[in-house]
Amino acid sequence: SFYQEKANEYHFGEISISANRGSIYDANGVILAQSATVYKIFMDPDLFRSELEKKKENAEAQQKQIANGELPSGTVVKTADQVQEEIISFLAEKLEIKEETVRSAMEENTQYKILKTQVEKPVADEIIAFMDENSLNSIQIEEDTKRYYPQDELAASVIGFTNGDGDGQYGIEYQYDDYLSGTDGKVISAKDAYGNEMPYRYAKTYEAQDGNSVYLTIDRTLQYSLEKNLEETVSQFEIEDRACGIIMNAKTGAILAMATAPGFNLNEPSEVPDLQIAQAAQDMELLDIDKNEVIKKDNAKSYLDQLTEEQLDEAYVAAREQQWKNKAITELYIPGSVFKVVTSSAALEEKAISVNDSFDCTGALVVVEGTDPIHCWKTSGHGLQTFTEAITHSCNPAFMEIGRRLGAESFFNYFKAFGLTERTGIDLPAEATSYYQGLNGMGAVELASCSFGQTNKVTPIEMITAYAAVINGGELVTPYVVSKIVDTDGNVVLTNEKTVKRQVISA
Ligand SMILES: [Zn+2]
Repeated sequence: SFYQEKANEYHFGEISISANRGSIYDANGVILAQSATVYKIFMDPDLFRSELEKKKENAEAQQKQIANGELPSGTVVKTADQVQEEIISFLAEKLEIKEETVRSAMEENTQYKILKTQVEKPVADEIIAFMDENSLNSIQIEEDTKRYYPQDELAASVIGFTNGDGDGQYGIEYQYDDYLSGTDGKVISAKDAYGNEMPYRYAKTYEAQDGNSVYLTIDRTLQYSLEKNLEETVSQFEIEDRACGIIMNAKTGAILAMATAPGFNLNEPSEVPDLQIAQAAQDMELLDIDKNEVIKKDNAKSYLDQLTEEQLDEAYVAAREQQWKNKAITELYIPGSVFKVVTSSAALEEKAISVNDSFDCTGALVVVEGTDPIHCWKTSGHGLQTFTEAITHSCNPAFMEIGRRLGAESFFNYFKAFGLTERTGIDLPAEATSYYQGLNGMGAVELASCSFGQTNKVTPIEMITAYAAVINGGELVTPYVVSKIVDTDGNVVLTNEKTVKRQVISA
């Protein structure tokens, strides 16, 4: 088997055919990601050297002919060295690579040395024309694919991107990589005793199977609107730890828009604005400034100038990792007053309160005698109010009382039933799990604080899914961003529809 393998290496050559990666569309068929054909430029250094050797012999022969008077004395004869230098400078300029790279490639003992990948067609065509003009075959092109994101920043943290090898990183590109990538094909050809390719009839082609296309539930118009509003919010309030937003169809769990701001350009995912690098440096305590000092866009560069090259690199990498993360599903937050809807639903369902009950607010409440009072956001108090007024006022003491009437066990059962202790199972990678006060150790003070949305940390996707249950008839649904996957022949290979996990409360 050892010799058989060796023999096969001599007898057969293999050329890979890249499968086209499937496209990603929004809910209305707008293209969000697509692949186009680009080219790999490679050299056969062994062939290159022998072609040059021939050029050298030809040049010498022509020079002799000129000396003998067989060719006119003005005939221009390029020496092999001149030809080589011309090729080097031509390739370096066209491919935007160093001349040194071409020079060292020419020295290698191989028949296949890649000079550059992801080269666009016009450049590839120029290279082939140049080689034809000079009757050379040692530089060739091979088809490859490149990923384009026609909408640039739109839904960047949801879509994700691919790496240089075309593998999905982050977002949908990662989550659905198996569907999108397809299967590469190949051509296996026979070689003669001298290592040259045998005629085509001896070759066997295995066609590439192109990837499937993925259709999202995301609607471009809503997505754009959400992003525009988030961007304005981030700049208006000088938000440093990014902001996120989700628009969900509460009945089905289909995500219509999901954004993290500031976003990034999917076509240039490694580009990070100075402001974000400076903020990362501040978080990492690389800057000699206060943690709370606000860095602004205009002076970000001056902060970066204070860093050593190593520190700058460290801060850049941290900021880059951060900008790729989908904040809506990978980061936790304390929901605060929006959580009061969950407490209300549980208390009404358990008949612990009725809509007409009244709650008094003096501006603060001592939950357990001897402990510090917990304040309402309105320190002068809301006075006597009905439940409807209490929720309209977003009154903290009223909700501490509602939580008390509900009781720790009931509160926790609903917290769990609303899905706040588990991942939602959305079809996106890296969903975080919440950090919450369990039933063990939930005393009166903890219960009071949990009841108006403090203490527990959840993901934005968990919170919106719980909200959906409150307004959709009481069903906890599984959120999703992909509606269907279609193969190259138009067959639907996967559909996501409404999935109900459980009935949490009555309609
Ligand atoms: Zn109040």
